[in-house]
Amino acid sequence: MKIFYSFLCLFTIVTIGFSQSKQKQGIVLENGVSEQLAIFRKQQITNVSYELLFEIPETKEEEINSNLMVDLTLSDVSQPLYLDFKEKTQNIKSIEVNGKNIAIVHKKGHIIIAVENLILGKNKVSISFIAGNLSLNRNDDYLYTLLVPDRASTLFPCFDQPDIKATYKLSLTVAKGWSVLAGADVKNKSDKGDFIKYAFKESDKMSTYLFSFVAGKFKSVTQTSSNREMTMLYRENNPEKLQTSTDTIFKLHQQSLEFLEKYTHYPFPFQKLDFASIPEFQYGGMEHVGAIQYKESALFLDNTATDEQKLSRAKLIAHETSHMWFGDLVTMKWFDDVWMKEVFANFMADKIMNPIFPKINHNLQFFTTHYSGAFAEDRSLGTHPIRQHLANLKDAGSLYGSIIYNKAPIMMRQLEATMGKEAFQKGIEKYIQKYADGNADWNNLVEILDEETPLDLKKWSEVWVNKSGRAIFSNKIEYDAKNRIKSFEINQQAEDKSKNVWPQVFQ
Ligand SMILES: [Zn+2]
Repeated sequence: MKIFYSFLCLFTIVTIGFSQSKQKQGIVLENGVSEQLAIFRKQQITNVSYELLFEIPETKEEEINSNLMVDLTLSDVSQPLYLDFKEKTQNIKSIEVNGKNIAIVHKKGHIIIAVENLILGKNKVSISFIAGNLSLNRNDDYLYTLLVPDRASTLFPCFDQPDIKATYKLSLTVAKGWSVLAGADVKNKSDKGDFIKYAFKESDKMSTYLFSFVAGKFKSVTQTSSNREMTMLYRENNPEKLQTSTDTIFKLHQQSLEFLEKYTHYPFPFQKLDFASIPEFQYGGMEHVGAIQYKESALFLDNTATDEQKLSRAKLIAHETSHMWFGDLVTMKWFDDVWMKEVFANFMADKIMNPIFPKINHNLQFFTTHYSGAFAEDRSLGTHPIRQHLANLKDAGSLYGSIIYNKAPIMMRQLEATMGKEAFQKGIEKYIQKYADGNADWNNLVEILDEETPLDLKKWSEVWVNKSGRAIFSNKIEYDAKNRIKSFEINQQAEDKSKNVWPQVFQ
């Protein structure tokens, strides 16, 4: 009996193994977007467009009735369709798939639409729901969304991963007297008693983390320069700050746009560039497509502002504007490469701003800002490579740290110095051209840059980006009888005793 039983077990295992490799492995559903779910959905789902309605009530305590219609094409119906919605199940009011009402199944933050409701090709899903408040930043007389990195799914049901880009048709119902701002212009507005319903035009294609809207009691100013109209919503009411800062804020955006169009040889990629200045904003800024958000205190300076404050405002604006190309137009495939867009944005911001602030020693500033922080972490046993594996999007926050903010910029500078400025720029131009409106990872960039240089960039990147640790330098100087330098040698050795060599260029 026992022998037979084991034999049977073995046979069963072999059969399962065979059938799994023939068919596709089932998705193991977990909280957050796992790498497995993301990879599966990327090949399952294309042509996504969201139509969203949020009815914003008068007070922040009231619920926001919302509606979603999502059109998509399915090329695989062997598995259910999973929409991410990290909210209470009772917030989901009804689900309709291809014209039929279906039962609500909501597990581990995912709405599950069973295979029998799906068809190969075009599908339409409609969900009536109460919007989640977690990322809505609701105040008494204004609110704004902040959905990076994986918080779009706390607000509305969606495919919350950066490589499923989609267009958005947004409608907002807000109290009369409130202003609105989103990724596309308002198409029409209609009166609804004490409220106004704003319907926006269809947006450009973007990742979920870049979708946004702002609504509330804001003042607004519009300026036009070089045929581009830009609008800013703001709440600042200090007349001196408004007087001193408003024109400069617009001018800095314009200067950044001009530089970026020239450097990338790619025209500004979206319908518009507006921005909102928000009191008590969590970061310096956030690069939402067509509607950047800024911390009010970082934008509006008065007459006592120091050069340092002015420089950091300029860099902030250049940083967020750079993201329109680096991050928004070309987006990382997965959040393990989130550092790329941050490094690029800072790198471009330096290029844009350095000539505007000639009195500042930018090289020295770069050195003091980044080197000690990078070394402090990289010399420790707990250090990690610039590029880290990310198994689930919900852990994306853990990637940010000294290595991303300090070592990665050093690496990028070394990369440009090693290749030469022109070859590097040419590579970037090709990279933007090739991956516009899509997604790319670090290896895709390295492949393109590698073609522009005789160096083995893959090997270079392997040490700088995929390995941790740093080089320790020593030197040997020999003098002749007249005390002049006869020979000068500089050596590096990996601090972690590995055989790694970090190729680098010095002046
Ligand atoms: Zn950034």
